[in-house]
Amino acid sequence: MEQAVVQLASATKVVVLTGAGVSAESGVPTFRGKDGLWHNYRAEELATPQAFRKNPALVWEWYDWRRSIIAKAKPNQGHVIIAAMEKHFPNFLLITQNVDALHERAGNRKLVELHGNIWKVRCTNCRQISHLLDVPLTLVPPVCETCGQIVRPHIVWFGENYDQDLLRIAQEAMAAADLVIVVGTSGAVWVPMQLAYLALQSGAYGIEINPNMTEMSSKVQTFIQAEAGKALPELWRQTLAQLSSKTSLRTR
Ligand code: NAD
Ligand code: ZN
Repeated sequence: MEQAVVQLASATKVVVLTGAGVSAESGVPTFRGKDGLWHNYRAEELATPQAFRKNPALVWEWYDWRRSIIAKAKPNQGHVIIAAMEKHFPNFLLITQNVDALHERAGNRKLVELHGNIWKVRCTNCRQISHLLDVPLTLVPPVCETCGQIVRPHIVWFGENYDQDLLRIAQEAMAAADLVIVVGTSGAVWVPMQLAYLALQSGAYGIEINPNMTEMSSKVQTFIQAEAGKALPELWRQTLAQLSSKTSLRTR
C-alpha cells in the first residue's frame, strides 16, 4: 500500500472506475456473487433486448425487485471516500458501471454512469427519457407519460451499444489520468476493462481494490486484496497523513 499512498498523494489527474463490488457492502447484490440470482434467472438472461421483447413484464418484475433493494440501501464508506476524492483532486472523474445511483447519493457529481441509471426509463416508442421513482411499481410494465407506450429501463443491456459521448468522455479522462483506481469490478464486461487498460498504457499508476483476484490484478502496480468499504478509507487516511507530513516539512 505504501507505494500507492505516495502516488496518490502526488497525483493530480485521478480516475476511479467502479463496478458492482463497491455497492456489495451496501447490500446490493453483484451479478456474479452468491445473491446474484433472481427466481433462478441469471442477469444475462434478463438484461437483454431479446428478453425484454419476449417478456417485458418479467424483465420489469426483476427490475422492480432490484429497485426495492437499492431504495433501501445506503452509500457505504467506500462511496463516501470516493466522494471525498472528488472534492480533493482538481482533476477527477468517476466512471461507474453501477446503475444504483449510490455514488450520486454519496455526493459525487463528476461522474459518468456508463451503464445508465435504474431510476431512469426510456420510452420504446418516442424515446423520451424520464425519472420513475415508484417502489414498488404501480404498473408492470410501466408506460410513457407522453405517448402511453411501454418504457424500458434506461440501462445499457448485454449486447447493446454504449452512449458514444459518454464513452468518449471516459476515454479522454483515462488517457490523461496519472492515477487510476479500479474498485469492485470482475472484468467480465469488456468495455470498462479496456478503459482501465487505456489508462495503464498511457502511463497511469494503477491501483485495484477487490477481495478477489481479477485479470486486472497482475496488470496494476498495487493490488489491494480487500473489500472497498475497508480498503478505501485506509488508503485515503494514509494519503491524507502523507500529504500533511509533506506540508509540515515545507512550512518548517
Ligand atoms: P460483477 O458482479 O461481475 O463483479 C463484482 C466484483 O466485485 C467481483 O470481482 C467481486 O470480487 C467484487 N467484490 C465483491 N464484494 C466486494 C467488495 N466488498 N469490495 C470490492 N469488491 C468486491 O460486477 P461488475 O464487474 O460491475 O459487472 C457486472 C455488471 O452488472 C455491470 O455492468 C453493472 O452495471 C451491473 N450491476 C450493477 C449493480 C449495481 O448497480 N449495484 C449490481 C449488479 C450488477
Ligand atoms: Zn413515449
